[in-house]
Amino acid sequence: MDKTCKHIVFLTGAGISAESGLSTFRSEDGLWNKHRVEDVATIEAFERQPEYVHQFYNSMRPELFAAQPNAAHLSIARLQKELKQHKISIITQNVDTLHEKAGSNNIYHIHGQINQLVCLQCGHVSETWAEAHSTDVCPNCHTQGNIKPNIVFFGETPLCLDVVDNLLKTCDLFISVGTSGVVYPAAGFVQIAKLYGAETYEFNMEKTSNNYMFDHHIFGKAGSTLPTFIDELIAQYQ
Ligand code: NAD
Repeated sequence: MDKTCKHIVFLTGAGISAESGLSTFRSEDGLWNKHRVEDVATIEAFERQPEYVHQFYNSMRPELFAAQPNAAHLSIARLQKELKQHKISIITQNVDTLHEKAGSNNIYHIHGQINQLVCLQCGHVSETWAEAHSTDVCPNCHTQGNIKPNIVFFGETPLCLDVVDNLLKTCDLFISVGTSGVVYPAAGFVQIAKLYGAETYEFNMEKTSNNYMFDHHIFGKAGSTLPTFIDELIAQYQ
């Protein structure tokens, strides 16, 4: 690890939350596996059957509300607290709020958040863990039937990409945790960071699709491997 490193970016995916009991996208027992993506995670599905799509995300909310951060989330939050002179950001593909619950800051949810709703009419974003329905009225523009879970569906543009692009181009250290490297644009973030000079690490249980782009691979459960690595980072930079 480069001793002059000042800016660290984490990219996290469903794998970092697996040890908190949340199923990953591609796991066999996952909620996602019981539904077709085309039925619950596309804008066409939402236009066709909004109440069905709302019910799917309503059914996810209690589990994600109750979930607690694991050692991997907590170690990133610890790093942010310990290395005050460093800029440390988290780009997450996760719609859960486990980084927030761990006490982290500088979090960018590029695929949205389960505890947010967006109005398709006026763009107003509201926070709630309550159920949402296709008949809901926007608290801002007061129109009915335009409230959508603030989840980025397939075919929609991910959020905060301008900020993310800047983070990727200016970081010295890029650390990917628990993401399969299949879903773009996130799968291409390592390439940008590397092109602009960052050292790149991947934490995963297995070989991933974009594995060859990383300088270092650390295999195993993130809840075990990441805290050890973070301890080394703190010892090195403090
Ligand atoms: P993914 O399911 O495609 O891949 C998860 C990756 O994590 C796999 O490569 C797997 O080997 C790895 N993994 C599993 N357990 C791990 C552990 N304990 N430690 C380290 N690695 C582990 O997930 P993705 O790449 O994030 O893409 C799927 C999409 O689905 C995302 O865009 C996300 O929005 C959504 N999703 C979110 C959640 C959540 O918010 N918790 C859960 C499921 C899916």
